[in-house]
Amino acid sequence: MQIGIVGLPNVGKSTLFNAITKAGAECANYPFCTIEPNVGVVAVPDERLDRLAEMEHPQKVTPATIEFVDIAGLVKGASRGEGLGNKFLSHIREVDAIAHVVRCFEDSNVVHVEGKVDPIRDIETINLELIFSDLEVLERRIDRVKKQSKSGEKQYLQELSVLERLKEGLEQNKPARVQEFSEGEQEIVKQVFLLTSKPVIYVANISEDDLISETENDYVKKVREYAAAEGSEVIPICARIEAELAELPDDEKKELLAEYGLEEPGLNRLIKAGYRLLGLITFLTAGPKEVRAWTIKQGTKAPQAAGKIHSDFERGFIRAEVVAYDDLIACGSQQAVREKGLLRSEGKDYVMKDGDVVVFRFNV
Ligand code: GDP
Repeated sequence: MQIGIVGLPNVGKSTLFNAITKAGAECANYPFCTIEPNVGVVAVPDERLDRLAEMEHPQKVTPATIEFVDIAGLVKGASRGEGLGNKFLSHIREVDAIAHVVRCFEDSNVVHVEGKVDPIRDIETINLELIFSDLEVLERRIDRVKKQSKSGEKQYLQELSVLERLKEGLEQNKPARVQEFSEGEQEIVKQVFLLTSKPVIYVANISEDDLISETENDYVKKVREYAAAEGSEVIPICARIEAELAELPDDEKKELLAEYGLEEPGLNRLIKAGYRLLGLITFLTAGPKEVRAWTIKQGTKAPQAAGKIHSDFERGFIRAEVVAYDDLIACGSQQAVREKGLLRSEGKDYVMKDGDVVVFRFNV
């Protein structure tokens, strides 16, 4: 699962991406913190792992991870092939969600490509490029379905009407993700793999000064309004400070955070928001060897969750022994959970919940 970082030039994407890769390099358990130069792997911050580690004293602790991809180079006109246009659009096609970085800081030393800071214009510039690209893809699809629908088959006629509606929406500058469709229609929309179908978080890159300020600056307020209208989340961050934080050892990091009145790096909030945006949840395994967070899609059933650990676990699945994380903490140990009868035995139709602490039983 990957989140693509997009935005106009000079908004702070590389600075943010640097922070991500540096923060990632700290997670010693993860051998390949940088897979490719533009892919950064980060641990998903999760306090539950620390608590479980205190309980189990395991040999190692392995967090869940997500990947961020730096998709630089998106400029106005990209959909017409300007800059390295289409290449970047195709990179966006491959990610599962988008973190759209928007410049919300004034700095006369940093040139703005449009001359002036205006986050809404910037958001719309990028969104428009994505919409143009989607329209091209959609029109090809519509041509094909039109031909198929000549047979008079109901299925194609329905598909065509949904696609035509989608196109009208795009032509009114509405990203696919904000257009309304029934569940069945959504399936048709999904098949077209549009860029504007992907979920988005807006990352408002603010200045060091605004980080300390009690009130949010007007740029961020505008981004919030815009995002709220489409149901997207906004994460204000100061990319420059994040990059600094990521390089510091823990004690100095705490000092710098305190200086800015922060409890945790903004990056943590971004990573957690990204995880939610991807529709991901975590189940946990905890023993003397390892305490570990595992990532699954919301709605995953027990055997498929077991399969994340090992394919044998899924094939030979018998049952899952599950305790909710909160119950485990309240009881204080796995032994106490058993004694209080809070360990549940769940079968193959059990839908996993976030924070389930699990042992899988399986046949070999
Ligand atoms: P990109 O083109 O979007 O990747 O932007 P960069 O990350 O290269 O940033 C462009 C310029 O803005 C660089 O000179 C950065 O140092 C500067 N910059 C990035 N983030 C911040 C920030 O939070 N505050 C300030 N003042 N400058 C920043």
